[in-house]
Amino acid sequence: MYIDLLGEPFASKDTRLSIARKVQKQLLAEAQASWPHEYSALLYGRGASICRHLAMPASGHDRHSFSWDGPPFLQALKQIRHSRMQWLGVLHSHPHTPPTPSSHDAAGWHYPSLSYWILGMQTPATPLWRVYQWVDGGFAVRSYTVSDDSE
Ligand SMILES: [Zn+2]
Repeated sequence: MYIDLLGEPFASKDTRLSIARKVQKQLLAEAQASWPHEYSALLYGRGASICRHLAMPASGHDRHSFSWDGPPFLQALKQIRHSRMQWLGVLHSHPHTPPTPSSHDAAGWHYPSLSYWILGMQTPATPLWRVYQWVDGGFAVRSYTVSDDSE
């Protein structure tokens, strides 16, 4: 049902994953506002270019691993579909630990074509951005560019 909604930001060898500077700024501001709690968001756009995000409410069940409740998640996917863009990735913050995926992160990740971003906020003044791709059963670090285009 949501198949065409799923993007493949790593599919093209010629187009590197990018995120709009404006989105990166907003994500950081929202993650800082949520600190010391975890923050998470869906990232979307076109092709390999992330140009929008939707902040996600934290699931009430488990504060340690990053998970979402069904209804807000489906609502967010609907919103992305209405924008005629594609879901390209997710981001969550690690308020107290380095931006390395935890075993919970690996166990809870079901969309290997998407980009998996972690914002490490152990030292809030110098946040660490990492993006991963799920390859052969594990997370591999990927590079990305920051774009100044608004769309
Ligand atoms: Zn995590």
